Amino acid sequence: MAFKSDIEIAREANKKPIQEIGAKLGIGSEHLLPYGHDKAKLSQEFINSVKDRPNGKLILVTAINPTPAGEGKTTTTVGLGDGLNAIGKKACVCIREASLGPNFGMKGGAAGGGYAQVVPMEEMNLHFTGDFHAITSAHNLLAAMIDNHIYWGNELDIDTRRVTWRRVLDMNDRALRDVVTSLGGVANGFPRQAGFDITVASEVMAILCLATDLADLQKRLGDMIVAYRRDKSPVYARDIKADGAMTVLLKDAMQPNLVQTLENNPAFVHGGPFANIAHGCNSVIATTTALKLADYVVTEAGFGADLGAEKFMNIKCRKAGLAPDCVVLVATVRAMKMNGGVAKADLGAENVEAVQKGCANLGRHIENVKSFGVPVVVAINHFAGDTEAEVDAVREYVASQGSEAILSKHWADGSRGSADLARRVAEIAEKGEAQFAPLYPDEMGLFEKIETIAKRIYRADEVLADQKIRTQLKEWEAQGYGNLPVCMAKTQYSFSTDPSLRGAPTGHSVPVREVRLSAGAGFVVAICGEIMTMPGLPRVPSAEAIRLNDAGQIEGLF
Ligand code: ADP
Ligand code: MG
Repeated sequence: MAFKSDIEIAREANKKPIQEIGAKLGIGSEHLLPYGHDKAKLSQEFINSVKDRPNGKLILVTAINPTPAGEGKTTTTVGLGDGLNAIGKKACVCIREASLGPNFGMKGGAAGGGYAQVVPMEEMNLHFTGDFHAITSAHNLLAAMIDNHIYWGNELDIDTRRVTWRRVLDMNDRALRDVVTSLGGVANGFPRQAGFDITVASEVMAILCLATDLADLQKRLGDMIVAYRRDKSPVYARDIKADGAMTVLLKDAMQPNLVQTLENNPAFVHGGPFANIAHGCNSVIATTTALKLADYVVTEAGFGADLGAEKFMNIKCRKAGLAPDCVVLVATVRAMKMNGGVAKADLGAENVEAVQKGCANLGRHIENVKSFGVPVVVAINHFAGDTEAEVDAVREYVASQGSEAILSKHWADGSRGSADLARRVAEIAEKGEAQFAPLYPDEMGLFEKIETIAKRIYRADEVLADQKIRTQLKEWEAQGYGNLPVCMAKTQYSFSTDPSLRGAPTGHSVPVREVRLSAGAGFVVAICGEIMTMPGLPRVPSAEAIRLNDAGQIEGLF
């Protein structure tokens, strides 16, 4: 049987004017700032006006460690949102915006899939409402002002070898990872080594997603460390006097974007920080506002639960005062099989034994999520080839772990396919049994925080770090940064730092290669392994096949 592609389904969407979608959340059209007919930003005035309302229930969608088989977190987030609306609940989805660059490398979007998508998906994956362009501009304005400051006499005494603020671009361009700037003569400044990251890796992105309002945004921008002096004392963005102008550039980008699902239900799509060197969730302002407008808010965190859910809880929820009422852990039969040792090419054949073997990965994520005091339900995201025996094997395993798994067919059937999942999630959330608590207190030492995550979530025996790294953490504690949460940057494919170690490994150690202070975003990044902040394009980039067809439609993007 041939399936329609995501983009074919999205094109057939029966979209409603965005004002009608806003009305479902009680947003008057005067508070929607339309970008075309099917996208709108929410006015700051409206956001302020609902601040004192009670919160709806918060549902986090996370997953097992990703495999090349694909898990479908966004697809499930959207499908569950539609499912909740279909059973009569007022629900809203909150997801991240897509980075434009990677779309031209590998095929793939960030708007969900099948009959569980948000639209307009092409725009959402390309320029959308310009938020990422604004972030790119704000980031690079600061970069330009730093070099300009040095050019005009360097009053702040910046050590030009220690400018940590790089430039960004929303493009996969490995040629820009390391560059030399200011070549070409005296009028162009002082040559120095610099480099580019992709926009989603910018600290400005992380800040936009954690800031509670424009004043908080500006304060955080000012707090960013951009360089060091020869005596190693930090130079802040505030010292460069860039924070005000950056806030001006980001004013509109701070407002959440409203779009709709294929079933015309509301979805906020806002912000998109990296899930490794940043926390990987949509903006706090979108989530907190949605909670005031809907009875259920379904949101997603990047990668598997060891990274995404952990950061959602320990960084986003802690900082924004949020508490999830239920966690949906997405698993697929295919991913269980891969975790059980089956090669991607052999996923088509039934293999109950491999499913059973691969479930250990799922089991550990269930336990981990429960350790935050939040009830968890497993959503089996159904793929066409899954057999009943394989699905039953997952169900039985999850039951043996004291949890439950629900088969969901939203990809094929939209809300009809996710109604069971929606009913169960609503039941759990309404019971109000969650007693959310972050994993560690603010007061814990920075190294101990890293150890706590490594031991309790990754089940490692120890954290390995050079004296240099430990000393650096102590210095930051002495400077008043000790109460920050840590943001782990490690491979998403394994609980360990070895991407090939699937399942539920034990006895490993977690080497911390480097630590970075994101003083504006408000976390300390612990880098465990190679982390790429400027991706490259593959040998045959999908850009080669992307074009407009005779009808003016985009081909080859998805
Ligand atoms: P994630 O958010 O976990 O990265 P997505 O929800 O974006 O994953 O899904 C990744 C891809 O997998 C999408 O192209 C989507 O269409 C596809 N996909 C998701 N669920 C299914 C399914 N049940 N059957 C077939 N394809 C699916
Ligand atoms: Mg996703």
